[in-house]
Amino acid sequence: MLHETLTEIYNRLFERFGPQHWWPGQTPLEIMVGAVLTQNTNWANVEKAIANLKQASLLDAQKLRRIEAADLAPLIRPAGYFNLKARRLKALIEWLCDHYEGDPGQAARRSAEGLREELLSVRGIGPETADSILLYALGKPVFVVDAYTARILTRHGLIAPPVDYHGIQALFQNTLPRETALFNEYHALLVCCGKHFCKPKPLCGNCPLQPMPHEIEEFY
Ligand code: SF4
Repeated sequence: MLHETLTEIYNRLFERFGPQHWWPGQTPLEIMVGAVLTQNTNWANVEKAIANLKQASLLDAQKLRRIEAADLAPLIRPAGYFNLKARRLKALIEWLCDHYEGDPGQAARRSAEGLREELLSVRGIGPETADSILLYALGKPVFVVDAYTARILTRHGLIAPPVDYHGIQALFQNTLPRETALFNEYHALLVCCGKHFCKPKPLCGNCPLQPMPHEIEEFY
């Protein structure tokens, strides 16, 4: 039953929105950097910050390791919280350099579980950022949960508040085939649905998930 419902949601979203081609980023390192920069801001701002890093030829793990956080911060200013994010970025890059010689490909050879534990021990890396890195930069079949996912599932009665990140993640991971490509596309499609339709005030009328049974409750 749950498998059918989650599959139906995926199929409807994919049919409406098509492939999302996530994550926007040319290299695994750029995706890792983007995963930190996108915390609490929209992607357009992240793009500006990444463009600054590219212009300064800083999208390189060893260079990012060497630069001081105080010098990095102005470059990523467009992403907001730039002092905090500079420190977080430095912490992530230090982890990558200390454990994997700054090479995401080397990191990807470790198990998802081991990597996740390591990432969560890096200051400023929470479950959503860690899982975004695991899925989109390192190719691990880990489902990324975000506020849109929680909202859509709650409104359709598939979960009940209070929502729990790992409970929602387990719901997907234990129900669907554990496939990187599927989790990649599914998360991106949920974000697309959330941005266009499942807003704080939902636009159910033209949403591809209408008329699935759902309850409209202000959750956030
Ligand atoms: S907008 Fe309405 S139909 Fe669409 S996902 Fe949200 S609650 Fe469901």
